[in-house]
Amino acid sequence: MDLVEEFLELGKNVTVTNLVELLRVLRRRIPGRYLPKNLKDLVGIDETDTKNIGRHFWSWLNKQKWRKMLPRPFPVEVVLKDERREVPNYLGTWHLHLPGDLIHSMYTYDVDLFRDRWLGPPGALEQFWNAQRETEWFKMHPILSNPDVDLRTHFPILCHGDDADSHRRRSFCVCTIASPLSISRSSWDTRFPLYIVDNTRALNETFDCLDAWIVHGLCELQEGSFMDVDVYGRPWARGKHGRICGPYTGVFVALKGDQKFLQKCLKLTTSATSELVCMYCKAKNHGDLIYTAFGPSAPHRECLVSNVDFLLEGCRPNSWIRLPGFHLSRVLTDWLHLIDLSLIPEVSASALIELTEDDSIWPGDHQDERLRMAFVQFTSECKRHGVRNRGQIFSVKQMYPLGKGNYPTLVQKHFNGAEATVLAKWLKGVTLAVAAANPASEHCALGHGGH
Ligand SMILES: [Zn+2]
Repeated sequence: MDLVEEFLELGKNVTVTNLVELLRVLRRRIPGRYLPKNLKDLVGIDETDTKNIGRHFWSWLNKQKWRKMLPRPFPVEVVLKDERREVPNYLGTWHLHLPGDLIHSMYTYDVDLFRDRWLGPPGALEQFWNAQRETEWFKMHPILSNPDVDLRTHFPILCHGDDADSHRRRSFCVCTIASPLSISRSSWDTRFPLYIVDNTRALNETFDCLDAWIVHGLCELQEGSFMDVDVYGRPWARGKHGRICGPYTGVFVALKGDQKFLQKCLKLTTSATSELVCMYCKAKNHGDLIYTAFGPSAPHRECLVSNVDFLLEGCRPNSWIRLPGFHLSRVLTDWLHLIDLSLIPEVSASALIELTEDDSIWPGDHQDERLRMAFVQFTSECKRHGVRNRGQIFSVKQMYPLGKGNYPTLVQKHFNGAEATVLAKWLKGVTLAVAAANPASEHCALGHGGH
């Protein structure tokens, strides 16, 4: 995400100062041997030649293959705000990629690239649809359930949204599409941007309008051919006709994001602070269905929200639910936010506090010293995985941000997803070894699925 930050910041204003800063950041953050060929050319630009640096940058940019592959961004009129200049909200232009334009552009640029990124390896498409065949969503889907449709020509599309910080000062909402079938590569290679919005300039209405266009675009993609009517039902002379990507048709299969993004898109009536806390079930903040009652037999598991209930009561009117084939079961929460950035820091802190209660694992006269030893080991584990560890040295004080009587936690902003994954894997190794060495302990029993 660091690089995205730099590009986003740059997009605001391509000035000599910004370009020099970008080149410096690239050199500092990526060691030369890890730089891909096309970025090497960029880093090679002479930053001391301030007269020509802009020209060199644009000439580099225009040579990039991905630039040729992307369509011209589509301008839409949206309500924007500009609090810094103290002007009232105004109607301005924002650019986005319509899903149909994007996929059409990839298809005509290089059909093999299109197949590789959207259809996945041989057999993946059929396997994907077969795995869904028995779900309520599939059976009710207007395209997928049609026996006359050849699913070997229909590919799934996943829509994803998240915020990206820029230097922790400004934040941008980034909405992308990707294929759940593409083999795992860097997300730079598999996700394609639909829109990027500066959150300080956006109102709810801004996103409503952008989402209306995105959903219109997804609808068009499911239709298979370019539409000639715009989002307001007006005739739309856009200079494109016919099939979007030859014999293929893209089908929306999931909307994925963190709570903030889903709240914004779907206008959920449930939230962490309201009485009903969950969009999938009727878990509440109080009473019998209280959400903190965990376990396989927790009462709220008996009252899952149906798709119809969700449409009637779980959300307020929004564009997404009008997309043919929309189903609550296809709204997915972001694993990164749920597990990597929330659960892992909490359980890791508990484990670390317990593991450093005596000096049987890490030496040291005080717990803080033992925690420091643990941190040194964690740091070398990060190095081994090529992950930069930006966290603070573990200490008792840091683990109890809410005071000693509360539960321990590692403050989330110190971690990114990659660090959290290394932390969890490393601590799993440590705790399993400790449990194995103490067969009579309750931890050992837990590890074997005991009581
Ligand atoms: Zn729930």
